Amino acid sequence: MNLDFTTEENAFREEVRAFIRENYPKELMNMGTREDLTREQFLAWHKILGKKDWSTVAWPKKYGGTGWTSTQRYIWSEENARVDALMPLPFGVSMVGPVIYTFGSEEQKERHLPGIRSGDVWWAQGYSEPGAGSDLASLKTTAVRDGDHYVINGQKTWTTLAQHADWGFFLCRTDPSAKQQEGISFILVDMKTPGIEVRPIKLIDGTHEVNETWLTDVRVPVENLVGKENEGWTYAKFLLAHERSGIAGVARSKRGIERLRDIASSESIDGEPLIANGDFARKISQLEIDLTALEFTELRTLASEAAGKGPGPESSILKIKGTEIQQRLTELTLEAVGNYGAPYARGMEGHGVNDLNVGPDYSNHAADTYFNMRKTSIYGGSNEIQRNIITKMILGL
Ligand SMILES: Cc1cc2nc3c(=O)[nH]c(=O)nc-3n(C[C@H](O)[C@H](O)[C@H](O)COP(=O)(O)OP(=O)(O)OC[C@H]3O[C@@H](n4cnc5c(N)ncnc54)[C@H](O)[C@@H]3O)c2cc1C
Repeated sequence: MNLDFTTEENAFREEVRAFIRENYPKELMNMGTREDLTREQFLAWHKILGKKDWSTVAWPKKYGGTGWTSTQRYIWSEENARVDALMPLPFGVSMVGPVIYTFGSEEQKERHLPGIRSGDVWWAQGYSEPGAGSDLASLKTTAVRDGDHYVINGQKTWTTLAQHADWGFFLCRTDPSAKQQEGISFILVDMKTPGIEVRPIKLIDGTHEVNETWLTDVRVPVENLVGKENEGWTYAKFLLAHERSGIAGVARSKRGIERLRDIASSESIDGEPLIANGDFARKISQLEIDLTALEFTELRTLASEAAGKGPGPESSILKIKGTEIQQRLTELTLEAVGNYGAPYARGMEGHGVNDLNVGPDYSNHAADTYFNMRKTSIYGGSNEIQRNIITKMILGL
């Protein structure tokens, strides 16, 4: 792939940069942590992008995508990462949206795609269960046909931000007698349907980011089945490949390394700036080398997507390396701020609390971000499972 930008691409970058500068909500600038944002804050940028038809950049033009080249999409990610923009959440845009426009009925496309583009409808992912994470196909939630409805019963877990969700996409067992993968269906569920209860799970950093979702006699019209009954596993896997390739977060990690360099220039060790310390400088350089290698892998994937191929098993490579880099970045940031990272506890900046962090602003959230980011090697399918996929699907072992 040629990485010299053309005059048109440079002009495109200017256009995007100006649009972000003029339209990105000022109150969302430099948010230290994201997990406790309100629904309105989460959706603010998405809604602005929706009005300009820029919220679903990777979708086919026919369904409201931009038709941008892979290089334009790369520029788009970079420019948003520069301001640390709060991008549209993946559940609608990168997960269920592509499933609906690829496998859904015309009615489903008409009904659901506009709300995903505009940011008016929030989606949640109902895949994992207490006994079915890595071994997802062993899921037990059932959907039993009753006239023109399915009746769903079961428990999902880790449902990210389901407390805000309007709709959810759920994997349910519709044929208990079939082989595991063959008896599963992909069903769209209005989260206001009676019988759905969303209960919070607190993460290690104290945030309410994930939930348990209980479904008791939830009646869902049969027209909410996506594709064919019992063929949901095919759609589920298609969605996971989209989910994984979106996790790599290259542009954001690049920005994170810049920030880490700034911190290391401000902090000192033995009377010298930390950035001049050979050991620490080597750690940052290694991270940059790994990120550059990942960036080229991502660009190759984007280029093959632009040539009409969907993300395949190579999305597992992006997922592993991308999340390892994100975690390493938070480790080095914590190391750079040293003791200042330690005293932070969520809520310290709250009303009536006098114990403000004694360190510089950039040390706020270093510890809770470090802890929060442990999740990245688990969600989207754990990194061990991605290694299994690579050995089978890419290496053919
Ligand atoms: C923050 C967060 C958000 C999430 N959001 C969602 C969501 O919105 N919707 C949703 O449906 N799910 C969500 N998940 C669930 C996520 O997909 C699962 O946690 C993940 O697939 C792992 O499943 P598990 O937690 O059941 O772990 P397990 O499957 O029990 O695995 C436990 C450990 O064993 C390892 N292991 C298991 N099997 C193998 C094997 N065959 N070979 C090698 N190692 C193995 C795993 O790598 C892991 O280290 C989220 C998870 C997290 C942490």
